[in-house]
Amino acid sequence: MAHPTSLSSAAPKVGIVSLGCPKALVDSERIVTRLRAEGYQISPDYAGADLVLVNTCGFLDSARAESLEAIGEAMNANGRVIVTGCLGAEPEVIEAEHPGVLAVTGPHQYEQVMEAVHTHLTPPHNPHLDLVPEAGLKLTPRHYAYLKISEGCHNRCSFCIIPKLRGDLVSRPVHHVLTEAEQLVRAGVRELLVISQDTSAYGLDVRYAPQTWKNETYQTRFLDLARGLSTLGVWTRMHYVYPYPHVDDIIPLMADGLITPYLDIPFQHASTSVLKAMKRPAKQDRVLERIQAWRRDVPDLAIRSTFIVGFPGETEADFETLLDFIREAKIDRAGCFKYENVAHADSRALPGHVDEAVKEDRWHRFMQVQADISAARAEAQIGTVQEVIIDGPGETDGAYLARSKADAPEIDGVVHVDSPACLGAGDIVPVRITDADDYDLWAEHTA
Ligand code: SF4
Repeated sequence: MAHPTSLSSAAPKVGIVSLGCPKALVDSERIVTRLRAEGYQISPDYAGADLVLVNTCGFLDSARAESLEAIGEAMNANGRVIVTGCLGAEPEVIEAEHPGVLAVTGPHQYEQVMEAVHTHLTPPHNPHLDLVPEAGLKLTPRHYAYLKISEGCHNRCSFCIIPKLRGDLVSRPVHHVLTEAEQLVRAGVRELLVISQDTSAYGLDVRYAPQTWKNETYQTRFLDLARGLSTLGVWTRMHYVYPYPHVDDIIPLMADGLITPYLDIPFQHASTSVLKAMKRPAKQDRVLERIQAWRRDVPDLAIRSTFIVGFPGETEADFETLLDFIREAKIDRAGCFKYENVAHADSRALPGHVDEAVKEDRWHRFMQVQADISAARAEAQIGTVQEVIIDGPGETDGAYLARSKADAPEIDGVVHVDSPACLGAGDIVPVRITDADDYDLWAEHTA
């Protein structure tokens, strides 16, 4: 095969496919930033690219299958493929199915990815660093950005292989995170989405080391990070918050309108015995009490969560406990997964694996209860006036797609807004809610 640099005299082009969670998207953004800084072009399609970089997800078996399929697609369409990301931690799996891939690197191995690109696609001469805007290049639209605060995880949930793939918690120093957030805001970002594997554990690994940012001391910890971000004057959403007691501490910042009243807490289950088998915190009564207290202080708080049904040992009574919990806690948005017996997960060895048909039945029952809760919530919004952030134009003149503070991009609902004004992505405007279905809202722009 001809050397890649002979393919084109123009800047070499790298196509990027990013699979998996927002955390993987942040990795892709960092790689794109590095590539552009070195003068590579980013290609929107496989065909126009000199090689394709596939950032994979390896968490669930279904995600692994999707990743392997995407690699296959890139191999067929282009033939020159470098694989990175979570599944890259298992090169033998990739190479067995796609022996022709150029290189495989694991998650967060930015240097190795760049080395692999350099080996197979010589960088252009005289790269101009000013190709990179101040805040780096983002794969997300310009008005919102993911802010990754740590890598890895120090928990050992029995169904999860992320600590095996990504290692223990490594927190970024708080002043670095705050500086990155400030740059993003200066570059036009109006909404920050804080992500990690376990956001509330932030700083545990560095014993909450204090740092200085803008002449003030901030500890590398969840509350101080939220305090710093709240000075930036943009929407700030907290994702993947493990339900530790100290989560209560940021509720006052939400009550004061400094942090977006939205908490993404993956509860995973509500039955004490299932939570124990999952190796998750198990004091569910306290959780309900705490949620009620949060809602008293922040009535418009939206709680998103994810749950697993059909976990090994889950009985019908455990499952009923879960349904009671989501009804009582009025979990506003919920994702539900049927338990998957992921390779290398400790939960594989647990007794009492649940029949697939029972899992399926429980999943449908869960989704029905959740749809009812969501519909009641949406109905209660009708007539209220609230701020929304515009994501872009809708399908007709004067129509826009937007999100309320209760809607994170890509995973929650949308607000369909009618407005006589000319609105742009990132504008934050007041609207009156006029209609609702189970998940989405309709609204008109108010003065
Ligand atoms: S908190 Fe549990 S589920 Fe989340 S990454 Fe860590 S070990 Fe996995």
